[in-house]
Amino acid sequence: MNSSHTSLPRIAVLATGGTIAGEAGDAAKTSGYKAGVVGVDKLLGAVPSLAQVAQIQAEQVASIDSKDMAPALWATLCARVNALLAQDDIDGIVITHGTDTLEETAYLLHLTVKSEKPVVLTAAMRPATALSADGPLNLLNAVTVAASRASWKQGVLVAFNNQIHCARDVTKTSTYAVDAFRSPEGGALGWVQDGQVEFQRSVVRPHTLHSPFQMSAELPAVEIVVSYAGASRAAIDAFVAIGVKGLVIAGTGNGSLHSTLQQAVVDAVKQGVAVVRSSRVGAGHVMRNGAAPDDALGSLTAGALNPYKARVLLMLALSAGTAPADLQRVFDTY
Ligand code: ASP
Repeated sequence: MNSSHTSLPRIAVLATGGTIAGEAGDAAKTSGYKAGVVGVDKLLGAVPSLAQVAQIQAEQVASIDSKDMAPALWATLCARVNALLAQDDIDGIVITHGTDTLEETAYLLHLTVKSEKPVVLTAAMRPATALSADGPLNLLNAVTVAASRASWKQGVLVAFNNQIHCARDVTKTSTYAVDAFRSPEGGALGWVQDGQVEFQRSVVRPHTLHSPFQMSAELPAVEIVVSYAGASRAAIDAFVAIGVKGLVIAGTGNGSLHSTLQQAVVDAVKQGVAVVRSSRVGAGHVMRNGAAPDDALGSLTAGALNPYKARVLLMLALSAGTAPADLQRVFDTY
């Protein structure tokens, strides 16, 4: 789809699938549909007013339900984003994605895209065929954000339900609501409505050009373990036995670990596994030497990163060959 408004910003839309491209046999159906089946041209065709906002070029990078997102596709997507943003005739990128793992992809790109130009992810909670589908307006708003000069140097953004979120902060908080995305600690960066974009705060931590991390097709194996009443050490021991390089623990409260997990952590660290404490709570941050003695356990803390994002950062840091003694600084910085 090409617009004749040659002075408009040039935005590449990269489609990966998700519910925004989902199809159900019945317009009243908002679950039990098939994600990632509607092509990018049809998605763009449903929003004719995009032509007033940007000159758009579209690519179908994948057609998946984002529950199946994997490092190989991250590598393809990241390489494509970096190649497009290096072109003088591209001013920004919109990525359509499933909501399930959107926050992981967004944070990964936040740390591995090397450009000041806007990269904006969007998605939908209702399939393209649904009554009151939210995808078309989310797509228009995402392109509006990507086309805005105010979005430069803000890292990777998520435009969803009229809000603009930082990739590091945002998380999916509902299985069905159209306002599913929140940034529990900092709140949204800003908003987009009726063609207007306003940022109310900017991103403080380093990202994109100021992040040293690169995406590579093979990331070190890092798994997630949860602590809960009656937790056993079987999962940690099994992951260590298969040779994982890192473990993220989704601890209770302030990243606290069931006492049965503490010795397992010490044993894992002795085997050279990097262990990061995060929280399963969904908001707040994990304090070093707070709810568990990190100095004694040999563990690291994730701060405000949720377990899934802590895993992304740990994979990138290990992939970059970060020394064990430097890993906590990485978590405190990015
Ligand atoms: N399972 C879908 C996906 O993540 C959910 C969605 O997009 O809302 O692709």
